[in-house]
Amino acid sequence: MSKGLVCVNCGKEFKVGAWYNCEDNPTRKHAVESKTYYSDSDSLVVNAIPQTSMVGNQGERINIPGVVVTFTNGTFHTIDPEIQEVLDRRVTMSKESWMEKRLTPELKSGRDRAIISQQQALIDELKAKNAALEAEKAGESDEVMAGAKGKAKTARN
Ligand SMILES: [Zn+2]
Repeated sequence: MSKGLVCVNCGKEFKVGAWYNCEDNPTRKHAVESKTYYSDSDSLVVNAIPQTSMVGNQGERINIPGVVVTFTNGTFHTIDPEIQEVLDRRVTMSKESWMEKRLTPELKSGRDRAIISQQQALIDELKAKNAALEAEKAGESDEVMAGAKGKAKTARN
């Protein structure tokens, strides 16, 4: 069902699972276009390929070490089709959501700064209005204001 892959190294088409035999070398893997994977975790570790062994042309046993992938700054890229096949299933974060998460603190602080300056402007405006109102009241009746203030002071104390 899976579509054939084309090796960027030897140009041959190969199937998922048939990673080796690039340039008729049983220990050489085919390669594909580099693909980048993204993770929340800066240094995500994926045990992508367990250690295994295969039989060579002369019937000899060839040990193939496993591959443990370690992300750097939440990204990892590879041309290895076998690792891609594993990461396609296990690391599904899109570049967009990765970038969004990475950029959020900066965007958020920028947004907060905008809100704060907006609030500050509002406070300044209210202060100016209050000051104007106070000045107006004071001009209206000095005596009443003075009396009210005096009462309030006494009640509080
Ligand atoms: Zn190849």
